[in-house]
Amino acid sequence: MKYCLYLLFLYFSLLDAKLSDEKISVQLQWADQFQFAGYYIAKEKGFYADAGLDVTLRKFDTNKLTIDEVTSGRSTYGIGRSSILIDRMKGKNIVALAAMFQSSPFVLLSKKSLDIKTPRDLIGKRIMMTEDFQDTISIRAMLSSQGLSLNDLKVIDHSYNPIDIANGKTDVMACYISNEPYVLKEKGIETNAINPESYGFDFYSDILFTTESEIKNHPKRVRAFVDATLRGWEYAFSHIPETAQLIERHYNGQHKSLKSLIYEGEVLKSLAYRDNQPLGAITPDKFRRISDIYRVMGIPQNEKRLEGFIYEDVTKQTVPLNLNERSFLYMNTFRSVVKTEWIPFYFNTQSDPKEFQGISADFWKLIVERTGMKHSFVSSDTWDGVFQAIKTKSADVIIGASLSKERENYALFSKPYATFPYIIVTGKSIDFLPGMEALKGKHVAIAHSNGINEAIAAKYPKIMLVETEDTKEALEMLHARRVDAVIDILPVVSYLINAEHYLDLKISGTTEFNFDMRIMMRNDYPELKSIIDKAIDSITLADREKILNRYIAITYQNKIDYRWIFGVLLGVILIISFVIYRQFEMGKYHKNLLKIATTDPLTGIANRIRLDEKLEDAHQIYERTGRTFSVIMIDLDFFKRVNDTYGHLVGDQVLKSLANLLSENIRSIDTVGRWGGEEFMIICPETNIDGALQLTAKIQSVIETEDFSAIPTLTCSFGVSECRREDRIENIVGRADNALYRAKEEGRNRICSA
Ligand code: GH3
Ligand code: MG
Ligand code: MG
Repeated sequence: MKYCLYLLFLYFSLLDAKLSDEKISVQLQWADQFQFAGYYIAKEKGFYADAGLDVTLRKFDTNKLTIDEVTSGRSTYGIGRSSILIDRMKGKNIVALAAMFQSSPFVLLSKKSLDIKTPRDLIGKRIMMTEDFQDTISIRAMLSSQGLSLNDLKVIDHSYNPIDIANGKTDVMACYISNEPYVLKEKGIETNAINPESYGFDFYSDILFTTESEIKNHPKRVRAFVDATLRGWEYAFSHIPETAQLIERHYNGQHKSLKSLIYEGEVLKSLAYRDNQPLGAITPDKFRRISDIYRVMGIPQNEKRLEGFIYEDVTKQTVPLNLNERSFLYMNTFRSVVKTEWIPFYFNTQSDPKEFQGISADFWKLIVERTGMKHSFVSSDTWDGVFQAIKTKSADVIIGASLSKERENYALFSKPYATFPYIIVTGKSIDFLPGMEALKGKHVAIAHSNGINEAIAAKYPKIMLVETEDTKEALEMLHARRVDAVIDILPVVSYLINAEHYLDLKISGTTEFNFDMRIMMRNDYPELKSIIDKAIDSITLADREKILNRYIAITYQNKIDYRWIFGVLLGVILIISFVIYRQFEMGKYHKNLLKIATTDPLTGIANRIRLDEKLEDAHQIYERTGRTFSVIMIDLDFFKRVNDTYGHLVGDQVLKSLANLLSENIRSIDTVGRWGGEEFMIICPETNIDGALQLTAKIQSVIETEDFSAIPTLTCSFGVSECRREDRIENIVGRADNALYRAKEEGRNRICSA
């Protein structure tokens, strides 16, 4: 018997050893270079071994197609271009795991002296590129969008030798922005590159993929492999020279110089971290846009096949955590301390004394769910007890608190997940109070845990503040006429007035103060702060509304406008039907491509390329006929704060709403477009400066009165200029830009002209 047990033990240890040694392979899609640095590093630094994986990197072979290697099972994983989506559409059951480059490095390169800067300059030129349709789709789409095709060029065989650009064997070569320009520069040859991305044809590159069956049969292995690979990339990009050296020594079949490998690393790093995306991110939205381009190019697309194409684990995990953060979560269980009751932020559920619900509790549960952290609630009867628990680290987080100098001495704070206005409560007999000024010389009660007491005392020294233990006590004092007013946040007050039947009290004014609700945590957990901040970033407008609507009857601040949502849906349906209709009816696609090339994907208004064209048109009319035009530059005020406070998704939403608003408020001959990030431009043909200033004033007031639902207020600064004699386009835009700068300097939310 003993012997048997021993055998059994041996068997399990062997099994264990086997598990820690899983053999998998990755098919590379090109010769060794920095392009695969993350894989080399993960292998050489033992990240794969740490994850229990034995990974073989299969070298590039011109005779093998990555996609076939993976689907046939000869390779477990592969690296492909965005065109793997086409393979998926054709019925290959592959799944995209991570996109290493958010934008493709693929460009058209030519000698600078040839002056080839736009697709039109390519007409009649010789170009070296492969004939492969899938590989060159971004180039074909760009050409078509400009009314051109490959027939307008002379396609010649690709030599893959950049020197052929220098010695004139070709005019143009399709290549990687991260490689050939540097090789030529080293030889003293300057180049120009045309990038399909600038024309709206923005594709992912180097997508790590595998088969559906690998995901089904080895889910843990997939997760571990992706994680270890990303860890490799993180290391490679933060140690570019060291990584380049390693490649030079051990992975340098191409005999690249150390300097060119470093250059490659730097260019690829900028492509990997594009668009504020975490390393490896794949978004369904972007793939949908890519799919739209393919469809317009005549490659059949199928919405159904798109489903399941992106690795679930990545998309579901709305919080992209890095490896440190993941292991921190893995190793700890977190205790959140709450005051027994702070309605409507948290209160006991009837059924379970250890469970809480309420606004803060629900936000916290969302954070817990999205990060997968382990946690439990502990409670204290007093506020002092709550804060003490963090000080002594007998608890790890407080799920709703405001930031103050004093608290920052012993705790860390997340970014705010919700903001509530402080309001003024008085007896019913008082009329509307325009603001805090009206409280001078009055006794005002405020709960001492509130966190704005210092700020009020500093700004309004003439208000006589009376500190109370909590809001209920403050309202009780007001009810008994022992103070003149109470200041607190809206949800708490409106709940208490209802619950305690203070029929003699009412909300009679607002203040300029807001309560930023944050997660407060012990100060030796910086990892937790970054995890929670990321989770808060993932909370969308809809998530926020859902929680708030559960508990707040008064919805004046955060109401959703359903009409707006319907508008967007209808818009999307119309656009989709439009695209399909065109294809069907006209059999032509270049107009749609033109639309993609000249439309800003986020806001749907004109992009920079379109604006440049319109400026050119208006300027030509001016030169021919002397009819002037004006330009309005618009920049959102303190927009960074919107992102920091509400997250990028809300920021994007605001940009969309503003773009809509601008489009609705210009004349049909005007063009509005996105000049860059959060800067917009309106071009007003046949309009002098007075006309443009009138339009700007109208827009300024429309913005001021608009309800941007997600954020309390939004203002913009404006710079306006008119085309003058001898002006070049740069001069007009430059003056508008200077005027905008002045508007910012002078205090924002204003219009300047030059
Ligand atoms: P101000 O213009 O009033 O001086 O302050 P600001 O905070 O708006 O400053 P600035 O114009 O320099 O900031 C631009 C910010 O806009 C930085 C970036 O976070 C944000 N931003 C730019 N593009 C986007 C975008 O596409 N989406 C989102 N959500 N934010 C963007
Ligand atoms: Mg700006
Ligand atoms: Mg700004």
